[in-house]
Amino acid sequence: MTEATHSTITPILVAQLLVEDGRMPVYVHLIEHPDGRIIVDTGMTELHPAVADMDPLLTPLSEQDLDLSSIDMVVNTHLHFDHCGGDRLFADRPIHVQRQELDDALNLEDYTITEWIAAPQLRFVPVDGEFELLPGIRLVPTPGHTRGSQVVTVETAEGLVVIAGDTAVFHGELDDPRTEGQRIVRALEPVAVWLAHAEEPWRPPAT
Ligand SMILES: [Zn+2]
Repeated sequence: MTEATHSTITPILVAQLLVEDGRMPVYVHLIEHPDGRIIVDTGMTELHPAVADMDPLLTPLSEQDLDLSSIDMVVNTHLHFDHCGGDRLFADRPIHVQRQELDDALNLEDYTITEWIAAPQLRFVPVDGEFELLPGIRLVPTPGHTRGSQVVTVETAEGLVVIAGDTAVFHGELDDPRTEGQRIVRALEPVAVWLAHAEEPWRPPAT
């Protein structure tokens, strides 16, 4: 008899950034699967002069009620500084990122805080296109916010849920998708989409 390999998803608030006159939350997401625990994005762990104007308020993964050694693998949806700043907490774990994204982040100017991802002990696993991480958990490229962005699709008891990073920053962008990545996410027909900068998941409009 085969058990359904359903996962659960838990958002974790790791930072709040000053944007215009408000605070923008930064969430990472923990996936718990019968065969492993995955962190999707790692937020920020320390301050950096390059982003001082955003006055980050940090509650990093290293200071939360989370056993970092229990994490089996990491996914970066993309490598902007507020998504990869904790990668170094998982230096001996595989970190899955699209190859395009890794190339851009390491080579383009002002893309991210390069020293946070250029550390030699990081075990990046460059991915080309779709990839199954564990049964029921897939990486799907979603170009738009960056050309190497990806999302994670997760089979849950509720149905297919997407962890989308910044493929959309605001819920309204998924109501009215404009980028290729946003259209790909909608075409997956998810029951919910977690975004990095929203407290609640987006859900499709009732039909
Ligand atoms: Zn971003």
